[in-house]
Amino acid sequence: MNPSVLSVRNISKTFGGIQAVKDVSFEVMKGEVLGLIGPNGSGKSTLFNCVLGQLRPDRGEVFVNGHAVAGMKACDLAKRGVGRTFQQLSVFPDMTVLDNIILAGQEHQGTMLSRLFGKPDAGLTQQAEQLVDFFKLRHLKEDKAGALSYGQQKLLDAAMAFMAGPDLVLLDEPAGGVNLTMLGNLKERLQTYNRDHDTTFVVIEHNMEFVMSLCTRIIVLAEGAIIAEGAPDEIRANQQVIDAYLGG
Ligand code: ADP
Ligand code: MG
Repeated sequence: MNPSVLSVRNISKTFGGIQAVKDVSFEVMKGEVLGLIGPNGSGKSTLFNCVLGQLRPDRGEVFVNGHAVAGMKACDLAKRGVGRTFQQLSVFPDMTVLDNIILAGQEHQGTMLSRLFGKPDAGLTQQAEQLVDFFKLRHLKEDKAGALSYGQQKLLDAAMAFMAGPDLVLLDEPAGGVNLTMLGNLKERLQTYNRDHDTTFVVIEHNMEFVMSLCTRIIVLAEGAIIAEGAPDEIRANQQVIDAYLGG
C-alpha cells in the first residue's frame, strides 16, 4: 500500500450563513491522480483553500506526508513539496515566461528580498529551464506571459506550481477555457510527470472527458459534502452523481 500524501480530516468551513464545506474527509495516496468534481458552488475551491492555508477551516485537520499543515503559509507548504494553481490565472503578464516560473520558485522559497533585489540562484533558474522544456514552452520562454494564448498561459500557470518541488500538486480547473489541442497537451504532460516522478495530483475540473481520462479516482462534492467516491467508471454510472451533477 502506498503511503498517504494528503490526509483531509473533517474539514468544515462556513461563510456567514453558508456552509461551503461540510465535514469533508479523504486520503490521497502517493502517486494518485485524484479528481474533485461537483457543481459550481459545491465547495471545491473552498476545500482547496482550506487544505492550502489560504483559508482557516472552522473545523478539521490537514496532514501532508503525516505532518499537520493547518494554517501554514504557501511558502512553508512549498518547502514540504506542495504546489497549487488557482482557478484564476496567476501569471504576471508583463514578465517573461521564464521569469514567471523563476519568480514562482522564489515565492515558494519565501525569499522576498532576493525576489526584489537579487538575482535568482542558479538552482532555481536551472529548475525553471527544465520546466520550460517539460511543458514545451521553450520557444516562448523570452515572450511576455501576457502575449501567450490563454491555453499557453494555463500551461505556464501549471509549470509555476511545479516549482514547489513537488510531492503534491493541487490544480484548480487547469483545463477551464482551454482549447482541445492544449487540453491534450496538458493532460499528456501531467500524466508524464506523474509517471516519471510519482507526483500526486488533486485536480478540480468540470471537463468530464479530461477528468475521467486523467484521474485514477474521483470524489464528488455537492453542497459542500462528499456524495460519491470511486473509479471514473463507477462515478459515471452513479445515479446520485448523475442527478446532482452529470445529468444536468
Ligand atoms: P466551487 O469551487 O465548487 O465552485 P466554492 O468553494 O467557490 O465552490 O464556493 C462554495 C460556496 O461558498 C458558494 O456558495 C460560494 O458562494 C461560497 N463562498 C466561497 N468563497 C466565499 C467567500 N470568500 N466569501 C463568502 N462566500 C464564499
Ligand atoms: Mg471553484
